[in-house]
Amino acid sequence: MADDRFHVYDTTLRDGAQQEGLNLTVADKLAIARHLDGIGVGFIEGGWPGANPKDTEFFRRAQTELDLKHAQLAAFGATRRAGVKAADDPLVAALRESGAPVVTLVAKSHDRHVELALRTTLQENLAMIRDTVSHLRAEGQRVFLDAEHFFDGYKSNPAYALEVILAAAEAGADVIALCDTNGGMLPDELADVVHAAAGTSARIGIHCHDDTGCAVANTLAAVKAGATHVQGCANGYGERSGNANLFTVVANLQLKRGFDLVPPSALADMTRIAHAITEVTNVTPNSHAPYVGMSAFAHKAGLHASAIKVDPNLYQHIDPALVGNDMRMLVSDMAGRASVELKGRELGYELTPETTKELVDRVKDLESRGYTFEAADASFELLLRDTVHGERRRHFEVESWRVIVERTKGGELVSEATVKLHAKGERIVATGEGNGPVNALDRAVRLALEKLYPELAKVELVDFKVRILEGTHGTDAITRVLVTSSDETSEWDTVGVAENIIEASWQALEQAVTYGLLKAGRDA
Ligand SMILES: [Zn+2]
Repeated sequence: MADDRFHVYDTTLRDGAQQEGLNLTVADKLAIARHLDGIGVGFIEGGWPGANPKDTEFFRRAQTELDLKHAQLAAFGATRRAGVKAADDPLVAALRESGAPVVTLVAKSHDRHVELALRTTLQENLAMIRDTVSHLRAEGQRVFLDAEHFFDGYKSNPAYALEVILAAAEAGADVIALCDTNGGMLPDELADVVHAAAGTSARIGIHCHDDTGCAVANTLAAVKAGATHVQGCANGYGERSGNANLFTVVANLQLKRGFDLVPPSALADMTRIAHAITEVTNVTPNSHAPYVGMSAFAHKAGLHASAIKVDPNLYQHIDPALVGNDMRMLVSDMAGRASVELKGRELGYELTPETTKELVDRVKDLESRGYTFEAADASFELLLRDTVHGERRRHFEVESWRVIVERTKGGELVSEATVKLHAKGERIVATGEGNGPVNALDRAVRLALEKLYPELAKVELVDFKVRILEGTHGTDAITRVLVTSSDETSEWDTVGVAENIIEASWQALEQAVTYGLLKAGRDA
């Protein structure tokens, strides 16, 4: 179990799962819990057993299927209903029977919410808190309290909001997490309220939503004001604008404030884990996410590149390796010699000044014609190799290709492609069918080459993006195609540009296959 002095409490599986479009199965939740444990969080809130059958099942399966190394599971639920005993309330029983060592009770701390939503008296609300907390404590569970709408409640009736904290703490709740439930707070005013709450004898936690874009800042302000328990969600998931991004909170506290929250090796796995969780949630990763985003340490602009070459730390706020990320150089038409040299080094080539100059000229020329190398590392590497070798080396030479698109009598569209190429002294003709012309071309070229290069069976096209670029200086519009391919271990991107979309796609496909063969160790 993690150090108890400061809590990192994850609520992805409960509050994060409220995100629009996010729909987690029990198996998904178990998979995410394993990832969160891998990153070293102290508590994982699994859901609301008793209120939601899927969550009841999660806690049941967790007992046999989860082997947590760092984290403890927390079951979320409400205080007992008005007018009954906690021991007799079936929803409280579900929390008791969840098998979770921790129960987090949500309670009202805003006087108006007690009267309007709960429709009971302020005194009865306090009794509900005391009774439920002490009952669960007596039955052997640790209890935390989420004080809902605390900040608005404090504005409305500060004395009552503080009374809620004291009632829970005196009944045995270990942490009172102050919730900015509607997410409207700003750091300075939030810190004042946390400070007042921390002046009581209770241990204070913080739970922030990002409606003002301040969830992480508010969490840090609360810690400064005395909170020793932070709640948040993986990748900032949550309803509306999301919850505080727990990864950003942890990285900030650990790397900027010297807190010892998770093992450094786990922090160094954060980028991988953040992405692994997006695979489960099926939410496209935010490439601009702090610390873990693909672009978090990506640099453009030639002006900076020459200084980055001398000292990368001048241009980044931390060493990206601390969170498992990498510095990336983006090769673009703004880039000069230094960034091309740096990119070459990143790919394992020491370039001579002559080669660098030639490569910069070629990049500039191609980018002026619509190519982009920022998003097509593999195409850049092929260009670099061609420049280094002084010739275009390929595993195969294309004689011709052809695509037919047919609309059948039944209205179905079928594409058929034929490629003729030369490889290892053979002339090969192959035909492939597909649901579209690019798919058909892709199949045909693999079919042609797979006998000679069986490793191509593992390579697949995973993404295909088309963009029409406006014509300039009186020329026609042109089409740019970016293709993402993958084998079992990595992904790579290639680019093609032409007036004709099929030709642009073909260029990107041909490079994708070539790069795949180079990666598999096949020299051209
Ligand atoms: Zn919340």
